[in-house]
Amino acid sequence: MHFFDYKESKFYADGVSIEKIIREVGTPCYIYSHKTLTRHYHAFDEAFKDMPHLVCYSVKANSNIAILKTFVKEGSGFDIVSGGELYRALKAGANPKKIVYSGVGKREDEIEYALRTGILMFNVESPEELRALNEIAGRLKKKASFAIRVNPDVDPKTHPYISTGLKKNKFGIETNQAIKEYVYAKSHLKNLIPFGVDCHIGSQITQLSPFIDALNKTREIIVILRREGVDVQYLDIGGGLGITYKDEDAPHPSKYGKVVINETKTLGVTLIFEPGRVMVGNAGILVAKVLYTKYGMEKNFIVVDAAMNDLARPSLYGSYHSIKSVNKQNSAPAMIADVVGPICESGDFFAKDREISAFQSGDLMAIMSAGAYGFSMSSNYNSRPRAAEVMVKGNRFYIIRDRESYKDLIKGEKIPKDRR
Ligand SMILES: *Cc1c(COP(=O)(O)O)cnc(C)c1O
Repeated sequence: MHFFDYKESKFYADGVSIEKIIREVGTPCYIYSHKTLTRHYHAFDEAFKDMPHLVCYSVKANSNIAILKTFVKEGSGFDIVSGGELYRALKAGANPKKIVYSGVGKREDEIEYALRTGILMFNVESPEELRALNEIAGRLKKKASFAIRVNPDVDPKTHPYISTGLKKNKFGIETNQAIKEYVYAKSHLKNLIPFGVDCHIGSQITQLSPFIDALNKTREIIVILRREGVDVQYLDIGGGLGITYKDEDAPHPSKYGKVVINETKTLGVTLIFEPGRVMVGNAGILVAKVLYTKYGMEKNFIVVDAAMNDLARPSLYGSYHSIKSVNKQNSAPAMIADVVGPICESGDFFAKDREISAFQSGDLMAIMSAGAYGFSMSSNYNSRPRAAEVMVKGNRFYIIRDRESYKDLIKGEKIPKDRR
């Protein structure tokens, strides 16, 4: 569900024509729909209205502070994976008591920063990290609330790069070891508070069964912990709910909600969620300008001015993004082509062998469902300034990140001042 659509054959974001935005801002450009963002947040939040819960939007999916601010205003907390994301969340006005901190490699300075900020809890991913947390909290005379991220060894049936809950993945702690870590914490209560159990099994999950498997495992752990005298109050189920890019039948949050509530209602815990993609994925598009069409012997290519440095998902995961014409609606597919960017890599593509309408040089193309893991994964590869970002609210639009300049590209770079 999103609010990008045609009006009299011109493509609009909410009440604003995309052409109008691009005339002012140029291409490539990310455009986000405020109405879609808030709708997604509330669809998710509503699904759990019958249980005590906290939605912690996963910052890494899209970390622009205007996006974060939008979620702050709706009451969201945040799931962070670095000191930089904590900084962003605080800049956006986040309540520290609604921040959870995940990630396998938290640095000492990052743990200190989060302790001083007073976040809700650390999702600890290794026995060594728990000892580091204990030591740093002791030094700062703080108490660190934590959950162990358990690795439940369930197959989320998604792309291998975004599966995280299998034994072979680097994430979390195997269940028996996890229980030992809570017991360790019991003898270090001066600085460690066993607060919850955490689990995040992967991303772009379009079936409910992997979530059920994971919930069964975490429920067992909670029962064992209580028997051991560790009374955890929170169950963090992570994120991972998938969206429709092409024809995936991703479950609506309300369906996911029913299943999760059914599996957890007797536990007497507060649920925490870390949704990323389902909040922002379909709330953003990437608009590119068509530069050239090349008719080849074997293949046709439509060359656009956005590239894999702007949106890495197709080259990284081979993922599908639907493509629409900004200038005209429903033009019949006229050719089969690859849509490619200008970067010097054959992996620089947005679509392969796509049935697509003919585009003229100068036409605008909307690459759909680019709101999650789009700009946040972008880079300056090939010395390409990063794209501008725009948020549409009702009938107005706001630039929420300026297009980078050539000067931005060399920011912080220095030529050594020796004589040779
Ligand atoms: C990436 C990530 C999320 C968000 O995943 P989505 O699939 O975008 O919902 C949540 N929790 C953790 C720990 C993550 O690494």
